[in-house]
Amino acid sequence: RARAAGSRAHQPAVTADGVRIEVAANIGSLADATAAAEHGADLAGLVRTEFLFLDRAAAPGADEQFATYRQLAAALGGRRITLRTLDVGGDKPLRYAPAPHEQNPFLGVRGIRHSLAHPALFAEQLLAIARVARETPVSVMFPMVSTVAEIVAARRMLDDALARTGPAAGLRVGIMVEVPAAALRAAAFTPYVDFVSVGTNDLTQYTLAAERGNAAVPADGLDPAVLRLVGGICRRAGVPVAVCGELAGDEAAVPLLTALGVRELSVAPPAVPLVKEAVRATRLDLAGPLAERALELADAADVRRLSVQSGR
Ligand code: PEP
Ligand code: MG
Repeated sequence: RARAAGSRAHQPAVTADGVRIEVAANIGSLADATAAAEHGADLAGLVRTEFLFLDRAAAPGADEQFATYRQLAAALGGRRITLRTLDVGGDKPLRYAPAPHEQNPFLGVRGIRHSLAHPALFAEQLLAIARVARETPVSVMFPMVSTVAEIVAARRMLDDALARTGPAAGLRVGIMVEVPAAALRAAAFTPYVDFVSVGTNDLTQYTLAAERGNAAVPADGLDPAVLRLVGGICRRAGVPVAVCGELAGDEAAVPLLTALGVRELSVAPPAVPLVKEAVRATRLDLAGPLAERALELADAADVRRLSVQSGR
């Protein structure tokens, strides 16, 4: 089975009933991009650009960012790269963008809120993204969006960057949906985005009020509450929906997410071949009723049991 997965890793992933699912990679370094290409990723579905910004005295300028984004695209053989703008906050402080102490950093100035609060830093990153998007297929996505006003403000700044570089024909714009407010109002974002990508790590944290990484309050993205939000996003978004949280790489989740309408799964590079095989093992006509049942179950453990049993 492992060998079969290896030899087919570079082929597209199509469900047993013929629906193409993009299997993408999550990237946090240049080495990740190389690994993603080796493992057959169709694109980079999430580039965590924080790796360029953390643990240094000064912010990387537009030139340095441009050079790095271009290297990532080259390592991926020119496949599309989805550059997520800086996703930092009180829990990941930057020396050059000091932030006041927050009691609850996960509910504070994070993600897009941080970028909008530091417009010079944000403008520099958007300039680098606009420049690289003129050379290679690029998607830009904004993290932790919770209101329409945030995407409007971010798009205005992106337009300012594009006014300086000139147009970038292949540039797509999206948001991460990782806040329940954005999930519930997915349709309100449709006029401003080409795609959405569900960050199930944070969406699970905020839905279940269970801090990620806190073993005392475990949270599983297969929880029916989270799956209901994903289903609602797929019905209402009006644009293609991806998932780039850990859940996308969970074999038990693949039939459920695709049945709910997800058409791109972005996972750690080594997981790409397995997720492609899980897609090929899925029949959406059977997975649809399975997902309907999953939404009615008591908890994530029951959902996992149902998915695993029906897959054997
Ligand atoms: C997520 O929240 O699911 C996600 C992919 O973003 P990160 O893990 O970087 O917060
Ligand atoms: Mg997140």
